[in-house]
Amino acid sequence: MPWHKWWLPVLTLALVCAPLAAQETTPVRYDNYKLVRVAIKHTGQIDQVHALGAQLMSEGEGLGPVDYLIPPESMPALQKLQVPYRVLNDNIQAAIDAERASMARSRAVSPLDPDWFADYKTLEQVNAKLNQMAADRPDLATVFEVGRSFEDRPIYGIRISGPGAGKPAIMFNGCHHAREWISVMVPMWIADKLVYEYDSDARIQAVVDQIEFFIIPVVNVDGFVYSQVERLWRKNRRPAPPGYSCMGVDLNRNYATGWSVPGGSSASPCSEEYHGTAPFSEPETVAMRDFTLAHPQIVATQSYHNFSQLIMSPYGHTTALPPEHEFFMELNKGQHEAILAVHGVTYEYGPTCTTIYRVSGGDVDWYYVERGIFSFCIELRDTGTYQFLLPADQIIPTCEENMAAALYLAEWFTTPVKFAFPDGLPTRLTPDTPENVTVKVIAVGDTLDVASPRLYSRIGSGGAFTESTLIPLGGNLYQATLPPTPCGRTLEYYFSAATTAGVVGVSPQDAPNTTYDTFAVPIVIVLNEPLSTNPGWTTQGQWAWGVPAGLAGDPQAGYTDGTVYGYNLNGAYTNNMPEYHLTTGPIDCTGLTDTRLSFWRWLGVEKSAWDHAYVRISNDGSTWTNVWENPSTTLIDTAWEYQELDISGVADNQATVYLRWTMGTTDSADVFCGWNIDDVLVRGLDPDGCPPVLGDLNCDGALNVFDIDPFVLALVDAAGYAAAFPTCDRMLADANGDGQVDVFDIDPFVMLLISGD
Ligand code: ZN
Repeated sequence: MPWHKWWLPVLTLALVCAPLAAQETTPVRYDNYKLVRVAIKHTGQIDQVHALGAQLMSEGEGLGPVDYLIPPESMPALQKLQVPYRVLNDNIQAAIDAERASMARSRAVSPLDPDWFADYKTLEQVNAKLNQMAADRPDLATVFEVGRSFEDRPIYGIRISGPGAGKPAIMFNGCHHAREWISVMVPMWIADKLVYEYDSDARIQAVVDQIEFFIIPVVNVDGFVYSQVERLWRKNRRPAPPGYSCMGVDLNRNYATGWSVPGGSSASPCSEEYHGTAPFSEPETVAMRDFTLAHPQIVATQSYHNFSQLIMSPYGHTTALPPEHEFFMELNKGQHEAILAVHGVTYEYGPTCTTIYRVSGGDVDWYYVERGIFSFCIELRDTGTYQFLLPADQIIPTCEENMAAALYLAEWFTTPVKFAFPDGLPTRLTPDTPENVTVKVIAVGDTLDVASPRLYSRIGSGGAFTESTLIPLGGNLYQATLPPTPCGRTLEYYFSAATTAGVVGVSPQDAPNTTYDTFAVPIVIVLNEPLSTNPGWTTQGQWAWGVPAGLAGDPQAGYTDGTVYGYNLNGAYTNNMPEYHLTTGPIDCTGLTDTRLSFWRWLGVEKSAWDHAYVRISNDGSTWTNVWENPSTTLIDTAWEYQELDISGVADNQATVYLRWTMGTTDSADVFCGWNIDDVLVRGLDPDGCPPVLGDLNCDGALNVFDIDPFVLALVDAAGYAAAFPTCDRMLADANGDGQVDVFDIDPFVMLLISGD
C-alpha cells in the first residue's frame, strides 16, 4: 500500500475522535473550540480540513458551506488553507457550560411542572414524564416499548388517542442523533399538549379523537445518555470494529432504502455518517423498522433533528421525485407556514436530496418506499451559531412553532381523499375554448374509487353546476376539461372523488361553498420565437444561436424542432467568465396586463453564491430588473424545462420591452452546460378585448338583472347615466340597433334579458 494511503485513515481516526482520553463519566471539554462555516469548493478541501482535526458539525458534507468544530490550535493552519470560512461561535465550551449549569438547577423539576421544558432533560427524566402522562390519562395514553438498544436500554414510546378504533396513525420520533437534544423536547411537548390539553382545547381533542399518535422521543437512547458526557456525540454506542478505535453507527444512515449510496453516508467507522456494516445492522433501527411494520395504520411520520430549520421530504438518496411529490410539497409548505405564523421563524423546505443534501439510508426514505408512508424530517433551530447547543431559552419557542406544524400535519390526515394539480390551475381562460387540467387524486391510507373523480362547473355564479367525469390518464392522474367560456365571463368549478368505502372528498376543501374561479379574456401574443431560424438577437461572448458544441450535460435536441437548437452558451462554461448577455430586440406590450414570459430552458449552473444565471427585463435597454436568478443550490437540468415568469411589473402596457439572459461564472472544479434556450413566448391579457355585450349597461361583462336599473337610467337621463357609469357605453342600450336610445329599445331589451345570457 502506498504510504499516503495507509497513514490517512490512521490520522483521520485519531483526529476525528479527538479530544481523546476522556473517562466515560468525565465530561469532555471543548475549551475555545471554534464553530466554523467553511465554503468547500472542491472535494480535496474536505480532506484538508479534516487533517486539521476538524469534527463535522453539518448533517452532510460536500460542495458548499459545511460546518466544522476546529481545535483552537488548528486555526492558523485553517487560515493558511485559503479556504473561505466564517467563525460562527468562538468558544463552544461556553455554551456547553451554560447548558449544564441550567440543567443542574432544574434537575428536580416535576414532570408536571410547566418549567419542565425550560431546560434540556436526561433520558431518566424523559421516561419519567412519559410514565406520568400515561398515569394521568390512562384513557388517552399508554407507554410502550419499541425495542432495546445495543446496550440493552429500552426505547420507549407513548401512544395517544381518544376513543374509537381503525384510525390512521402518525408517528413522531426524535433523537436518532444523540447530540440533537432539542429533537427530544419537541416530541415530548407534542405528547404533553395532546394529553393535558385534550379536555380544554377543541382542536386538540378533535385531532386526538381522529388520529392515533405514536411518539418516540429518544430513538438513540445509548447515544443520548453518553451525550451527557461527550456533548457532541452523534452516533449510537456500537463498539469500534476490529482495527479501529472509533465507536458508533449513524442510525439515520442505517435504514435499508438507499443504504450506502455514495455521497450520502460513509463506509468509514470514524465518519460521523458511518452507515454500519449492513442495512439494519443496529438494534435501534431494527426496533424502529419492526415497530413500523407491526403498525400498518401509520400514514405519516415526522423525524426531528437539529439544526438548520428545514422541512424535508423524500427522496434523500436520489434526486428523483416521488409520485406524490405535489402532496409532499403541499405538506412541506403547510408546515412551513404553520411554523412561520407562530414566532416568524423560517424553515425552508423541499425534497431532501434536491433541496439540501444527499442522505443515504435515512429513515424518511425507508418509511416512504417500504410502506408508502408520508414521511418527513424537520431540522429544528437554529441556523448556525449554536447548532446542537441551542440555548435553553429557545426550547419552548421551538416546541411551540413545531406543535403548530404537527397539528397541521395531523389534521391533513383526518380526511383520506386528496387532490393536486401538477401543472397548476389556469388563472385565465381563452374565450370559447375548452381547457384541459391535469388532476392528481389519491386516497391516503385508503383505496380510491377510480371511477369516482368528477368536475363540477358553471359559468357565472348562482346557477346549477354541470357534472363531468374525469378521464383516467394512468396511475393517480386524471384529466378534467373545463368547458368553453364566453369572453369576459367567469367560470366557477370544483372537483370531487371518493374512496371505495364511499368517503367523499372535494377540492377546494369546502366546495361548493368555495370554488376555483377563473375568467375568459383574450390572450395576445406579442413575441413567438421558436428559434428555428436565427432571429438576430444581440449576443456577447460565448452566446450563439445554433447547435451546442457538446459540453457536459448539453441538450441533444432542441425542444420542439429536433436538430435545430435555440440560443446557448456555445459549449463553453468556462471558469471566471464575465457576465455575458443574450438580448432580444424591442417588444411592444402596449395595452397588455398580466404579461408573462415563457421559454424552455436546459440549464446547468453552480449555486448563486458562485455562478450567475439571470433573466432580466428593461424598458430602455440600459436599466435592467432581475426577473429570475439561479437558486442557492446547484441547478442541473437533465431535460428541457418549461419556465414561465411574471414580467407584468416592467412589461405591462409598455411600448418598449427588452429581455435578456445572462451568464457569469467564477472558478469551478466541475463542468456544467450553462444556458440553453428555446421557444420563447411573450404574451399578455387584453382586458378590453372582449366584444361589448348588448344590454350590459353596468358593463360588468354580462347581461343580467343588474342591468335593468342602468338601462332605465340610460333611457331617461343620459347625463345621469354618464355620471353614474363613466366607463360604460350608453349605446349598449340601443337594443333594436336603430342608432338611438329611446322607448323603442324597451321591448327588445326585455327580450334580450329573457332569452340571452
Ligand atoms: Zn440529526
